[in-house]
Amino acid sequence: MALRRTWAVALFGVDGVLVEVEADVRKGGLPSVQLLGLPDTALQESKNRVRAAIQNCKEDWPASCVTLALSPAALPKTGTSYDLALACAVLAGAELVPPHRLAGTVLFGELALDGRIRPVRGLLPALLAARRAGMRRAVVPAEGLAEAHLVEGIEVLGAGHLRDVVGWLRELGELDRRPPPVDQPPAEDVPDLSDVLGQPEARWALEVAAAGGHHLLMVGPPGTGKTMLAKRLCGLLPSLTAPEALEVTAICSVAGDLPGTALIRTPPFVAPHPTLSIPALIGGGTGLAKPGAVSRAHRGVLLLDEACELGAKRLEALRTALEEGEVRLARRDGTLRYPARFQLVLATNPCPCAPARDLDCQCPPQVRRRYLGKLSGPLLDRVDLRVRMRPITAMTVHSGAEPEGTAAVRKRVEDARAAARERWSAHGWQTNTEVPGPVLRREFALPVEATGLLDRGLEVGAITARGADRCLRVAWTLADLDGSDQPGPEHVAAALEFRDRRAA
Ligand SMILES: [Zn+2]
Repeated sequence: MALRRTWAVALFGVDGVLVEVEADVRKGGLPSVQLLGLPDTALQESKNRVRAAIQNCKEDWPASCVTLALSPAALPKTGTSYDLALACAVLAGAELVPPHRLAGTVLFGELALDGRIRPVRGLLPALLAARRAGMRRAVVPAEGLAEAHLVEGIEVLGAGHLRDVVGWLRELGELDRRPPPVDQPPAEDVPDLSDVLGQPEARWALEVAAAGGHHLLMVGPPGTGKTMLAKRLCGLLPSLTAPEALEVTAICSVAGDLPGTALIRTPPFVAPHPTLSIPALIGGGTGLAKPGAVSRAHRGVLLLDEACELGAKRLEALRTALEEGEVRLARRDGTLRYPARFQLVLATNPCPCAPARDLDCQCPPQVRRRYLGKLSGPLLDRVDLRVRMRPITAMTVHSGAEPEGTAAVRKRVEDARAAARERWSAHGWQTNTEVPGPVLRREFALPVEATGLLDRGLEVGAITARGADRCLRVAWTLADLDGSDQPGPEHVAAALEFRDRRAA
């Protein structure tokens, strides 16, 4: 009988902390089990699961006083993923298995009563944390083996049953170490821009949005292809870099909806219903809080249709996420964090009656104004591009010209992004949308010939200072798309066209 320890990981969102699991097994006194270290209810139940699993593996649960401790004690330890680490600590403490294979090994998995090892959410970020903490080896649920193999630099072993782990600890058997065949997630096929007829202004706005990383507002009647276009924005964005792919895949892992067994390389597209709850938007729920839509869209596109129906609370939550690039969720036992750097696309009808053609609108002018006015304010200040959708007419459908496909547009976007990246690299920005207004106005001020139109608009009060900053950001992107070193008067004029005249 001895004091033995094993290792597990506590997850806070996508951040993990190594947890030491100690089992102190002593003869004498009444047989009992004590669990120390702030465990939640699920974890309290785990001592019963662990005991049943051990007994169902025909191993002896020690008839002595068992004390289990999780540390650091101040950390919240939520959920069921410590079962395997607890079971192995008890077996080692009772000297039923030798301890040496447990050294440097982190253990993941929920135990079923019969000893089967069930998969757990968030395996990928948990393994990244274990590797960072210097763990050399991980035993994971067999079903999570493919996901676990996405993390390099740590030996990964898969186990389907506690019995297999016990055999491995006794050096009587080996665990599964083969990486299973990798299948690409089906999400790779983003729809192509060549499917979209007409809407030259909106297509152009989409290209500018992709090139500069600008948030976009599309205003237009139903059936004009707002959703169709927004879906195609992901195809125009660069593929995710290796660290970005790990971030995005880690969020899917915690959400429990990893689409395949490969790293996600395509920017995600998320389009929740406008009546979604605040926890569904920014994250929440019991136990290990799930990431919300803003985090599932991390490094990709978040489309919010019927944006005028979102209401003040959702708009405010969105603004906070946009500003901070992450979501912090206050929990009973601390704060957890999910990244949320996404490109926002807002789409809305021009008025509550939502006619197919603007001409058919029955709404009085003040109703139309009030409807779109719901969107104005601090959130819209961050949306650089606003575009009006045209009604689809018979002319659009029969215009004959073949619409340009994603590949051709994407090439221009890549070149423009490369130019912006080089210009801002010293400041740590990647895209024009990240550049603060004062920097554009002072450090990168344009000659008066270029900004004449803008300056006059400011003087007569036709443009607000914020509107002018948005215009400058877009002008830089237009110059990048044009291959110019800096915006000229034509770029500033074209950028002004992207302004929403009602709410500038
Ligand atoms: Zn109307």
